[in-house]
Formats: sequence, structure tokens, C-alpha cells
Amino acid sequence: MKDNNCIFCKIIAGEIPAAKVYEDDKMLVFRDIEPKAKVHLLAVPKSHFKLLSEADGEIMSYMFGRIPQIAAQNGCDGGYRLVINQGDDAGQTVFHLHIHILGGEKLPIDII
Ligand code: 5GP
Ligand code: ZN
Repeated sequence: MKDNNCIFCKIIAGEIPAAKVYEDDKMLVFRDIEPKAKVHLLAVPKSHFKLLSEADGEIMSYMFGRIPQIAAQNGCDGGYRLVINQGDDAGQTVFHLHIHILGGEKLPIDII
């Protein structure tokens, strides 16, 4: 389901450009516009969920299952960090559930 006010829904719909690195019928992975590491990707479900509490386990399991290969194919062979910011206390700014994939270098502990 698309949310017309959501920037990630617009990227998924092709209404806003993004540097896509992986796409299938359930998920899209694209480069963060303000990268916090040499490699900084965002993995999003194609369905709009604001928060983890709204998403079903099936889509999360699917995305986590695909991420290792996507990370390896995008310069994260030395390791990577996954981050999901939830809500205001975590500093979430885009309310379409997304998994940050950070890597491509030795990561500082407080990167995001
Ligand atoms: P959050 O703070 O919600 O966990 O992460 C949102 C992320 O989305 C930020 O790292 C921010 O740089 C990224 N972002 C925001 N708007 C856009 C956009 O229009 N395109 C892309 N590629 N990334 C975006
Ligand atoms: Zn959305």
C-alpha cells in the first residue's frame, strides 16, 4: 500500500530518483542520499509500514534473508552494520520502515 506523502513510497513508485542497487517484488535497496559510511544503503519493503511494530515478520525475515548477498555484492565484504531507527528517541526521520546497511570501511561505534 502506497502512502502519497511518503518519500520512500515515491522512490519505490519511481516518482523520485534514487540510486537503486537491488529490487524485487517485495523490497528495494538504494543508496542513502547523505551517506554516513563509504557504503550506506537503505533496504525498504515495498509495502508502506511506518514502524517495525506495523510490519509483519514475514517481510522482515525476507529482507534479512536477502541482505547478506546484497551487502556482499556492494562492497561490504569486510563486514557491515544494520541499523533500524524506531521513532523519535532513535532519531527516525523517514517514517517508512528501513534497514540501514553500513560498511565499506572500519565503522566507528557511534556512526548513526
Ligand atoms: P532515519 O533517520 O529515518 O533512520 O533515516 C532516513 C535516511 O534516509 C537518512 O539517512 C537520510 O539521509 C535518507 N534519506 C532521506 N531522504 C532521502 C531521499 O530522498 N533519497 C535517499 N536516497 N535517501 C534519503
Ligand atoms: Zn512509504
